Amino acid sequence: MCTNSLSFQSEKESVPYAFKSIKQRWVRRAMGPEDVISFSGGEPTIHPEFFEIIHWFRAEYPKRTIVVVSNGRMFSYLQFTRNILKISNILFEVALHGYDEKSHDSVTRAPGSFRQTVQGIHHILRHKKASQELEIRIVVTKLTYKHLGKILSFVEKEFGAQKIRDIALIFIEMEGQAQDNARVVGISYEKVKKYIESAVHDWSSSFRELRLLHFPLCTIPQILWPYAWRTLREEEVTFLSRCASCLMKKYCLGIHKDYISIMGKGEFKPVRNMKKKIEKGISFYKPIKSISRG
Ligand code: SF4
Repeated sequence: MCTNSLSFQSEKESVPYAFKSIKQRWVRRAMGPEDVISFSGGEPTIHPEFFEIIHWFRAEYPKRTIVVVSNGRMFSYLQFTRNILKISNILFEVALHGYDEKSHDSVTRAPGSFRQTVQGIHHILRHKKASQELEIRIVVTKLTYKHLGKILSFVEKEFGAQKIRDIALIFIEMEGQAQDNARVVGISYEKVKKYIESAVHDWSSSFRELRLLHFPLCTIPQILWPYAWRTLREEEVTFLSRCASCLMKKYCLGIHKDYISIMGKGEFKPVRNMKKKIEKGISFYKPIKSISRG
């Protein structure tokens, strides 16, 4: 279900990711006020120059939040976690795909990965300082959507809900290997809707924050709109011609282009009547703060 293609692992493709090339591209780059420095992958923590790169960014951009999107496995090595926790103002976004070894490892197809990820999360939570935070990410795919409640229950029991900054339920991006394996992991918004609704209903008050990522607003019930975040890059999404008549377009993420090519565009329905009052969110990324019951 990874959004990168297999070719990403080749030596040729990896050249731009050597520390030397990264430095050249990133030295004193202008950024927007809300931008963060995000290390995604593949798996950034196994980059051979990971620590050199991350320390360089910390020094070059001392005030920016650094985000590490990870499978969490390297954090099972305590010394590795202690080393990375020397970096201030850092957010770890760790993916969990199941509620036990069998359900998680059947997605990662790496035996032992659940054990390592769980251990890694414990290490982060035990040793992190106040400026260091953790998000647990659950990618919603055909393999996981029916287990959301069980995964959230596991997270609460295992780690304690209040220690985690937020839980993010992320609808799968159907690109890269996820696109190659679309028959196995691909799913429609329609199918996952009631599971997302139950997950938010049952768990949003237990955790400090619950976020929905990659959901166009018309694919979730109105009551869930304040949980929706806009985190896909502009070039990855599109709007349909019918979206022009939608009252919610200015708050909506748009639709991932690859979703349309694989699953079609039938389920996206413009919102034409809106009697409820919308309170604007804190930023472009969090477009809706609240919605009146109306
Ligand atoms: S119709 Fe288009 S703009 Fe409106 S909520 Fe759906 S995807 Fe967003």
